[in-house]
Amino acid sequence: MSEQITFTMDGVQIKGKAGQTILEAADEAGVYIPRLCYHPDLAPHGSCRVCTVLVNGKPQAACTQPITEGMIVENETPELKEHRRNLIDMLFIEGNHFCMFCEKSGNCELQAIAYRLGILSPKYPYLFPKKDVDSSHKDIFLDLNRCILCGRCVEASRDVDGKGVFEFVGRSIEKKLAVNAEANLKDTNAAVTDKAADVCPVGTINKKGTAFAIPIGQRLYDTKPIGSEIENHKK
Ligand code: SF4
Repeated sequence: MSEQITFTMDGVQIKGKAGQTILEAADEAGVYIPRLCYHPDLAPHGSCRVCTVLVNGKPQAACTQPITEGMIVENETPELKEHRRNLIDMLFIEGNHFCMFCEKSGNCELQAIAYRLGILSPKYPYLFPKKDVDSSHKDIFLDLNRCILCGRCVEASRDVDGKGVFEFVGRSIEKKLAVNAEANLKDTNAAVTDKAADVCPVGTINKKGTAFAIPIGQRLYDTKPIGSEIENHKK
């Protein structure tokens, strides 16, 4: 049996198991910590920083930080909420996110977190970057206008599918997602059954012919805010 660890989050005692991260223990306890690059089927890498919490007063990524006995974690402070809002705001203006035309609307984690954090309009000027669309593959459609560079597809393709279809190229504002081929996705061995085709939090990697299987208005986050599925553990 794994060793039990007790820590405090926002003044509430939480019991977790040795080896768990703060985010895993919080999820099990029904406490939602916002996250974007984290996916439960992939190794956490703490790159988006949306899940940043304060651990004994110091900022840490909740998805990678292990729990320890007696640690004091802060998750719902006004400063952390503002930090998360800023990150989400910047992701919106760095890409071209037109939710009303996006087939992922209602199932998009970026959109859902923005609503949850109360973001209704952009805080910074839009950059309107020029991004590519790749519809060359028979089953998968890529719209890089919406990519938030979370890395899930890169990790899933490399570590789960064993293919390495996706990779990041460039640095800083020039950083972008690329496919492992001279030209387009059709020239890779990507398949619609790949894990990489399932993990995108936004509307970048889409399976052709499935976009409106669930009508807008009835989708996951149309009916309940993101995080509700975790908070329901408490009930
Ligand atoms: S395509 Fe999707 S999963 Fe891949 S890096 Fe961009 S947002 Fe993340």
